[in-house]
Amino acid sequence: MKTEKTDLQEMIEWLASFTDPEEKNGVTRLVYTESWSRALKALQEWMRQLGFDVTTDSVGNLFGRIQGETDEVILTGSHLDSVRQGGKYDGSYGIISSILAVSELAALKGKPHKTMEVVIFCEEEGSRFPYTYLGSSYVTGEYIEADLQEIKDPAGTSLIEAKEKAGFLNPLVPGGRSDVQRFVELHIEQGCLLEKQAQDIGIAAAVTGQKRFTVHVTGKADHAGTTPMTMRRDAMEGASAMIQKTLDIVRRLGDPAVATVGQIEASPNSVNVIPGYVSFSIDIRHPEKKVLETVCETIEEAMRATARFYRLSISSECFMSVDPVAMDGGMISEIEHLCKDRGQNYRIMYSGAGHDAQVMGRSIPSALLFVPSKDGISHDPMEFTDPLHLESGLALLKDILYSWAYCPQKER
Ligand SMILES: [Zn+2]
Repeated sequence: MKTEKTDLQEMIEWLASFTDPEEKNGVTRLVYTESWSRALKALQEWMRQLGFDVTTDSVGNLFGRIQGETDEVILTGSHLDSVRQGGKYDGSYGIISSILAVSELAALKGKPHKTMEVVIFCEEEGSRFPYTYLGSSYVTGEYIEADLQEIKDPAGTSLIEAKEKAGFLNPLVPGGRSDVQRFVELHIEQGCLLEKQAQDIGIAAAVTGQKRFTVHVTGKADHAGTTPMTMRRDAMEGASAMIQKTLDIVRRLGDPAVATVGQIEASPNSVNVIPGYVSFSIDIRHPEKKVLETVCETIEEAMRATARFYRLSISSECFMSVDPVAMDGGMISEIEHLCKDRGQNYRIMYSGAGHDAQVMGRSIPSALLFVPSKDGISHDPMEFTDPLHLESGLALLKDILYSWAYCPQKER
């Protein structure tokens, strides 16, 4: 193994230089595009120079392996793709930290007891194809090949065509990996909790569950001037009361419950016509499945009562439902011990955003760690994390990997 120390911040800047030149701001690295392929090849080359055994799988995940005395794998990494005009740290921080942590450990401590592996997931964001977590769901074998065959990007290129064009010609193999014993992902928080509380590490207890609905409210379109207020069946009046009740219910429930109404449409959408029809979206998230289900039922009842009050009809459909995923309790308490040993100011928290660790965590004991994001900004060129926080996350990751791969008998 090479032993020279490589600067974390410098390597994050280097990875950010692999971006679609047609996008003016930030980092744009959509899966299987030119900028993505160049980044993957450059990482492959860098990892080879550092002494990793480098391989790719059929979907385009990149692995760097340091063989241990046993074949049980301690896996760490994050995703290479980005949103359009995203930041430098989302995904990239986890990739660079994992490579540095594993290579520095191997250089300093020699052959590990358990095998250490870095994974660079090909895709997580769903920013090119309407499919998220492609990389991690391939590693766990959770992906659905039939879905992938049909998926196309906005230009009409299918995911399979794009994958093959990027050089991954082998067919997808079902089953996933069974040799991974533990997975840990280091990521920026993408929220402002750690910064507000002046804490440097967040340990995720769970990745939040999420349900999305479309609500259809139907009343009667009428003349805005000649219909008295008492005779109206105004779909907008009902919808606005429903939205207010939804947000009130979730606000009363308190943290970490959140609800968002981000889309609304009215028909006929005319300034002088009482809307006869309104539809709106609701996105509700909570890290406990039972609570998430109960709050959705409460909202549904409140909306039905509101519809009756305003003499409207209502229907709703749930178009997305993702269960919360708990991170591994034993791993969390081991990481807490390491944070205490290091004197790191940490908190146990929930992840309100989705991550590869939630896919991995459904079948492999997993942990997810956060460092603060300045002003909570993410998926934006302004995304920033203080270099001291970046370093403190990397140092913790190194201690975690050392404890799991080099001294497994000391597992607490
Ligand atoms: Zn991410």
